[in-house]
Amino acid sequence: MKIRPNIIWTLLGGIIFAVVMMPGFHQRVEAVQPAAQIKVYSAEKKGYVMTDSVSKTKEEWKKALTKEQFHILREKGTEPAFSGKYANHHEQGVYRCAGCGLDLFRSEDKFESGTGWPSFTAPVAAENVRNQADNSLFMRRTEVLCPRCSGHLGHVFDDGPKPTGQRYCMNSAALQFVALPKK
Ligand code: FE
Repeated sequence: MKIRPNIIWTLLGGIIFAVVMMPGFHQRVEAVQPAAQIKVYSAEKKGYVMTDSVSKTKEEWKKALTKEQFHILREKGTEPAFSGKYANHHEQGVYRCAGCGLDLFRSEDKFESGTGWPSFTAPVAAENVRNQADNSLFMRRTEVLCPRCSGHLGHVFDDGPKPTGQRYCMNSAALQFVALPKK
């Protein structure tokens, strides 16, 4: 019996289709793809850099963070007012994300808000924070997230002092202070 070439192509196509549709195939393809790159400002390098976004499972975050850090960064928690280590902190340097180390705020932009949470008028650069509408707890607020690891940092309000009029109200537990010379 003579096999027609178009039958061979149909069979081959069917085999390829079956392999691609096999459970797990897409997950394997995703796993080998490199992490997405984002453009952020580096206080140390005094310029913009490209960096890999950080993605971890819930279990990996639990291992990497303290219980309090996990609750705030990964479960959108809020520390009690005046309880955090940076509410009354005045050293010269940069506050980084406690989850992934991304530069978030400068000590020069920190001000006394009287709220009991570390407050800043601006991030190190617009690219170093991500804002998102938060309508939970019957309030209209703007949540601030780390653009690199998607950790919850706090909220931003428009009742801050000059020059920006912004008040970035952060959780100390979401931050990690590093002493750095002035910009
Ligand atoms: Fe982060």
